[in-house]
Amino acid sequence: MQRKKGIAILGSTGSIGTQALEVIENYSNYFSLEVITAGKNVDLLIEQAKKYKPNSVVIGDERLYSHLRESLANDDIHIYAGEDAMCQVIESTEIDTVLTAMVGYAGLKPTIKAIEEKKTIALANKETLVVAGDLITKLAKENGVNIYPVDSEHSAIFQCLVGEFHNPIEKIYLTASGGPFRGYSAEQLGQVSKHQALKHPNWSMGAKITIDSASLMNKGLEVIEAKWLFGLQPEQIDVIVHPQSIIHSLIQFRDGSMKAQMGLPDMKLPIQYALTYPDRFETSFPRFNFMDYPNLTFEKADLKVFRNLNLAYEAMHQNGVVACYLNAANEMAVDAFLNDKIQFIDIFEVNEETLVRAPKILSPTYEDYVSSDMEARKIAAEICKKLN
Ligand code: NDP
Repeated sequence: MQRKKGIAILGSTGSIGTQALEVIENYSNYFSLEVITAGKNVDLLIEQAKKYKPNSVVIGDERLYSHLRESLANDDIHIYAGEDAMCQVIESTEIDTVLTAMVGYAGLKPTIKAIEEKKTIALANKETLVVAGDLITKLAKENGVNIYPVDSEHSAIFQCLVGEFHNPIEKIYLTASGGPFRGYSAEQLGQVSKHQALKHPNWSMGAKITIDSASLMNKGLEVIEAKWLFGLQPEQIDVIVHPQSIIHSLIQFRDGSMKAQMGLPDMKLPIQYALTYPDRFETSFPRFNFMDYPNLTFEKADLKVFRNLNLAYEAMHQNGVVACYLNAANEMAVDAFLNDKIQFIDIFEVNEETLVRAPKILSPTYEDYVSSDMEARKIAAEICKKLN
């Protein structure tokens, strides 16, 4: 019998993590669940551990360790807590693929560890590539590690590349739904509420990425992610607003031919493809019906109002730690907005003002990224305080 593929899910309690567990459960003959981890949601982690029976569980918040241990005392599961443990469990030889489904900068260290341990990466945690794409891609190359994208747009590009890896890409188009505030003026954006911002028209996702989608920061982060995943120059990456989210992204080759990947928006598909590549497993997901979508439409992104997208291009042009500054500022700004400390439109200002303070560091080391992240958070926190 063929050995099962061992999977670790970092961030199993989140939107991507819970959907990944469903995918793994559907193919239990093919996958073995080795590790699941959470930040703070210990009750869901316990529920998942009892249901899916992984080999190990890790809770990020060490204060929740004893509750976790007591609740799983009668289950044959190894229990750990803390950031270091999250990195250590990845060492297990039973793990083949690590799905990085944590949100934000917190994903950087465990992703580095997973690459050093030569595990295949199924990458949902785009912030890792935004912060330190240079370091991550170099490390992956040195260790012979493949990084398979989970983000639907990048999965689309990756799927279009199958059979074309030797053909240079002329350009890619990342599609964007435009979020709940598509077409809004700056004045209108000044009035929007948290409730409105958390209501994405097409996708159900974690809070941070939902706000990023509303501010177009998510598309900006994806542009930077695409640069590193596919080895592209900023000029080769374009964004096109496509409100129906049916075409997940497109490639243009040097003969002018374009390939697109399409389907109903459902993250389980790109999650599954990243775990089963190069195979496609049968699913019962609803199928696309052309008659339900007689009009697929496209429009330009409004970079004047949604300044975050421009900031991402600027960060990409500048290299060094600039994108790390942008990411940290944005994490702080989104957190402040979600905690009612700043207005939605203030997110742009926090990001802009922090970004201009980024130092020029040509070839940053891991330590440079860590200190830049800390410094940028300090600056962004001051700006948020001023705006409060
Ligand atoms: P969620 O907020 O739903 O989940 C985040 C997960 O990360 C949770 O399991 C959370 O644990 C864990 N986590 C958060 N902070 C820490 C920490 N400091 N230490 C350890 N674990 C932590 O996010 P999503 O699932 O929506 O997104 C995850 C990643 O995937 C993001 O990078 C996002 O950009 C990307 N992505 C998401 C998509 C989606 O459809 N949701 C689509 C494409 C990409 P807990 O809740 O227990 O605290």
